[in-house]
Amino acid sequence: MEERLREAVAQSHADYTEARWEEVTRSRVAFQRDQLMALESGEEAGGIVRCLVRGAWGIAVFTDPAELPRKIAEATHLARTASGHVKDPVALAPVQPVEARYEGAMKRDFRGVPLDEKRRLAEGYNKLILGFSPQIASSSVRYTDAWRKVVYANSEGTFVEQGIPDVTVMVAAVARKNGDIQQGFESVGYAAGFEVAQGREEDALTAARRAVDLLSAKPVQGGTYTVILDPDLAGVFIHEAFGHICEADFLLKNEPMRKVMQLGTRFGVESLNVVDDGYRPGERGNVPYDDEGVPWTKAYLIKNGALTGLMHSRATAHKMRAEPTGNARAVSWEHEPIVRMRNTYIEPGTATLDEMLHGIERGLYACSAFGGQTMFEQFTFSAAYGHEIVRGKIGPMVRDVVLTGNVFHTLQNIEMIGKDFVLEGSAGGCGKGGQWPLPTTTGAPHVRVRNVTVGGR
Ligand SMILES: [Zn+2]
Repeated sequence: MEERLREAVAQSHADYTEARWEEVTRSRVAFQRDQLMALESGEEAGGIVRCLVRGAWGIAVFTDPAELPRKIAEATHLARTASGHVKDPVALAPVQPVEARYEGAMKRDFRGVPLDEKRRLAEGYNKLILGFSPQIASSSVRYTDAWRKVVYANSEGTFVEQGIPDVTVMVAAVARKNGDIQQGFESVGYAAGFEVAQGREEDALTAARRAVDLLSAKPVQGGTYTVILDPDLAGVFIHEAFGHICEADFLLKNEPMRKVMQLGTRFGVESLNVVDDGYRPGERGNVPYDDEGVPWTKAYLIKNGALTGLMHSRATAHKMRAEPTGNARAVSWEHEPIVRMRNTYIEPGTATLDEMLHGIERGLYACSAFGGQTMFEQFTFSAAYGHEIVRGKIGPMVRDVVLTGNVFHTLQNIEMIGKDFVLEGSAGGCGKGGQWPLPTTTGAPHVRVRNVTVGGR
C-alpha cells in the first residue's frame, strides 16, 4: 500500500494531492438487562483522496486500492471544475514534510482475544450490576475495541503510517423505587490493549451503587452557588463549552465569536492554563500525526489566563496566519479531516480539595457529566450527581444537578484550581460536522467556580 500511495500522489497533476488509506478491525459486545444485544467483530478498509486545484478541493473515496490513480484523476477534475466558482480560495500553511511510523502500545493485543472472552468479561460486569440490589431495574454494558491502521501520503513528500488501538468499556445501571427512576454510569476508554477493559468490577459496582443512592438523594435546590467541579465534569466543561469555540474552522464561519476570541484576551485567573495536547500515548486523544500528516503539538489555548492559541488545520492556519497545530482529524476513511480536539485539559494548579472546600458556607460539589448542550457561549450541563457543601464539608448527595451559564463568565469566575489532575479517558466520543464518535480525552483537576447558576431538572 505504501508504494501505491507514494507513487499515485507523486504522479498527480493537481496543485496538491493527499491520499489516506485505512484498515480497521473492530469488535463489540453489548448487554442490556440479561440480554446479549450484540456480539460481533468485523473489518473494513477504504481510502480518500483530496486534490487542491487553484484554491478548490476535489474529494473522492474508494475501497479498492487499484482505483487510486483513477480516483486522483477524478478528484482533480472535480477540483478544477469547482475552482472556477470558488469565492474563498483554500491555501495550506506550509509544514516540513515528514516520514514517520507510529504504533500505539498494547500489553495484550485485543485482536488476539477470542470474542467469547470479551463476552464473558462484559457479562461479568453486567451480572455485578444486576445482582447489586433488588432496586436495580436495568443494566447496560458495552465493550468496544478497534485497531485502525492509517497510511497517509501527500504530494509534498510526507508519508505517515500509524497503528491506533482503541478500547472502551461503559457500564450503566438503572434503579427504580415507587416509580422514581435513577441511573448511574461509569466508562473508560484508552488507546491501549485489552488490559484496560479488565478489572473494571469496581466501576460496575460504583454505577449500580450510585443509581441506588440517587433514589434517596434530594433534588438539588436551585440557586446560585459556589461550585466545585470534579475533574471529570471540569474536563467535559472545558471540552464542550470552551474547546469547540477554539476550533479555527468554527471561528472562521462565525464573525461575532471571532471578535470575542482575539488572542491575548484575558479569560480567567493567572493560574488558568488550558491545553489541547496531541501527544499522550495511551490516551484516546493521542494523535502523533493528524490526518494531514502534521506532527503533534501541545497547543496552549489559554496560558496564564489569556487566550494564546487556537486549534488549526493547514487551511485554517493559512487563513488566520497561524502555525498548523496537528488538529485536522477524520473519524474514518469516508471523511475529510476537519479541525478536532485531541487531549483537552485544564492544567493542574496548587490547591488541595480541602483548601477549595474551605470557606464555602453553602455550596455544591458537582460530579461527572451525563451530558450537555452548548449554544455558542451558553452551556447547560447535567452532572451525574452532586453533594451539598455545608460549612466547608462535603455533605449529603443531591440529584438533578443542572449547571447553566455563559462560558466566558464561568471562566472568569474560576477562583481555585486543584493540584489533583486527572485525564478521564471515557467511552463515546466527540461529534462535529456529521463525524462521530471521534476518540478524544478530557482532563482537569478539581476546579472551584463562584456564582454558578444551578437549576433542578
Ligand atoms: Zn466535542
